[in-house]
Amino acid sequence: MMESRNSVVDFSSDSTKLPLSVLLQTQKDLVNYRGLGVSVLELHHRSPEFTEILDATKSTLRELLKIPENYKILFLQCGASGQFGAIPFNFIGLKEARCAEFVITGAWSAEAAEEARKLGKVKIVHPEQNAYTTIPDPSKWDLGPDSSYFYYCADDSVNGVAFHFIPDSKKTVLISDMSSNFLSKPLDVSRFGVIFAAGQKSLGCAGVTVVLVREDLLESALNACPIVLNYKLQAGSIANTPPCYSIYIMHLVLDWIKSNGGPEAMEQNSIAKSKLLYDVIEGSGEFYVCPVDVKCRSRMNVVFQVGGPAGNDSLEQIFLDKAAGVGMTSLKGHRSVGGICASLHNVTLEETQKLAEFMMSFKNEHHLSSD
Ligand SMILES: *Cc1c(COP(=O)(O)O)cnc(C)c1O
Repeated sequence: MMESRNSVVDFSSDSTKLPLSVLLQTQKDLVNYRGLGVSVLELHHRSPEFTEILDATKSTLRELLKIPENYKILFLQCGASGQFGAIPFNFIGLKEARCAEFVITGAWSAEAAEEARKLGKVKIVHPEQNAYTTIPDPSKWDLGPDSSYFYYCADDSVNGVAFHFIPDSKKTVLISDMSSNFLSKPLDVSRFGVIFAAGQKSLGCAGVTVVLVREDLLESALNACPIVLNYKLQAGSIANTPPCYSIYIMHLVLDWIKSNGGPEAMEQNSIAKSKLLYDVIEGSGEFYVCPVDVKCRSRMNVVFQVGGPAGNDSLEQIFLDKAAGVGMTSLKGHRSVGGICASLHNVTLEETQKLAEFMMSFKNEHHLSSD
């Protein structure tokens, strides 16, 4: 859906390809913001001009996700990983037992659980898994009434495991890391206590993390919580200098999403794109293999092996080299899982189609030669 600027298509999960219209606006504002004779980079964070950007960003986000009035919207630094630490500081004290419940579906939820363990007890609600390829059966989760909150990662991007439903946390406060799929679909925010998302995956550029937090949960931060991580203080007034430029970029991206049909259109687009690749994988006679359970395959990060279920390192390398040769880069999976990972956050349907066609012709060449 985003306009392309050159022939290289980057399938990295780490950053966003920004719409051309956003970049052109940025180019203007960088030199002379609204004819004021100053750069948008130079705006004082308490100036009327920046305050206007901040307010507009919040109201567009509120409108796009129909965020109820009793939720605060925070724009923080420190990335999603910073919130892994901030969450227990702010919410582990909600119940006396100081226990947080987790579902672990990949590297990011595992890391968040380790951060929580520094400040309280962590209960993993399911038996340990050997590999992150599925969501452990929700009907068997061991949830208790004494836990402060229940945490999951909506799309654990490294492993390509995603929730296509909102888990039932049995009245415990529900917290989710949505860094990888925020705004990729409509969302019932009222089901959650806290949602957070790093900005660089689909909201703009690195430097800002969005936090949505229900107001009544803001009273339980531990005394030891640093000011910049304290959601109540951050929700009150400006506790420290916000990442102004990243917020400005997010403002433009949110406007772009709004004018392109909002979360509903983003969802149709991400379903269509990921289907193109999963269909090739399923129709490849196990030449390509996606290890992730069909019902929880990510629409953002399509993870697969080349050359059979066990993978084939040399064939994988040829795949990567040939793909790069025709302008498709950053397809190598995370070092902890190997294989291929095609992240689709910011590529168009046409660009995804190009990858699907490449995969089919690569299979035809190499399947035949190995017979
Ligand atoms: C990328 C990512 C993170 C890490 O984000 P940082 O801003 O680098 O800390 C955390 N969770 C998920 C789901 C991600 O995709």
